[in-house]
Amino acid sequence: MDEGIRLSDYGIHTVITGNTSVVPRLKEEGYRVYLACGAFSLGSNRGDESFHARDINGSPQVWFGSGCPNDKRLISSSLEKVSKLCETPDIEGIIIDGARFSSLCSGPRNSFYTCFCGNCEREAERLSFDFEKIKRGAKSLYDKAPDKDAIEEWLRFRSACVTGYLGEFSRIVRSRGLEAGAFLFSPSIAPLVGQNYRDLSPLLDIVSPMVYRAYKQKEGPACLNHELAAAADEFNFVSLRELSDLFGVDLTVFCSPADILSGLSTETAVSECERARDLSTDSRAMPILDLNDSEIKSIISMLRERDFKEISLFLYNKDYISNLL
Ligand SMILES: [Zn+2]
Repeated sequence: MDEGIRLSDYGIHTVITGNTSVVPRLKEEGYRVYLACGAFSLGSNRGDESFHARDINGSPQVWFGSGCPNDKRLISSSLEKVSKLCETPDIEGIIIDGARFSSLCSGPRNSFYTCFCGNCEREAERLSFDFEKIKRGAKSLYDKAPDKDAIEEWLRFRSACVTGYLGEFSRIVRSRGLEAGAFLFSPSIAPLVGQNYRDLSPLLDIVSPMVYRAYKQKEGPACLNHELAAAADEFNFVSLRELSDLFGVDLTVFCSPADILSGLSTETAVSECERARDLSTDSRAMPILDLNDSEIKSIISMLRERDFKEISLFLYNKDYISNLL
């Protein structure tokens, strides 16, 4: 690798990259390679509001650089890209990112309460969901007066859409004899964004829960500490005890959302990886951890003790790689 660093010296033998041009060199150096790409990325359509998700007030929202997960134009351009990536020689498979709806940390507050555009309304009808009820569910949460039944309908709809998309993705990748994988929200928070491990496992060869327990950057979409802190803040009408029961993570040890942001325990990280594996009986669980986590070595060793054979790291950086030593 560049900078005189050889990843194999750190026990790393597989590389996940979005850059197809580096594949030949990685193969020459003996690495296994997976390609990664985004699901609903807006790309050059970012300025065109017709691609954006719509919140409960009908306003356009961009989340994680992405648009409406039911926009047929975004879906087909994404699947065409996947199809093209599959033609890259010598790769093991494709791992998709962002196959979900917005989370609390993926954009402005209102971006979580999406998508209620015409595409989503038509998809709800096609899948026999009650769109008005779905909207009512999101609005009730937004207004901090939760209608539990309607919220569940909303989250089930999110999940049905994501599962439908990943089914298409998987069909394309597997038809080329490659492995289909996905970076998923950690199990405690996955239901919020429409990722249902049990439904997705039969579609995926590799399930990769993103278990970033103490992500230090200011923005942390998908990171456990950021998303759970945001949930404690946004859903402040329920107690931390109730939120702990909802997410299956003990938040009562924290005093405030800011306290949660400082990081979850290493035990919580390991338990999230085990939950992901338990829920994904048809797939290999390959947790992805934060390379810049000061406890990365101890988490890896706890996972190895629990027989996790594949562990992925986000993100290669010459300053962080020494955390593995
Ligand atoms: Zn939509």
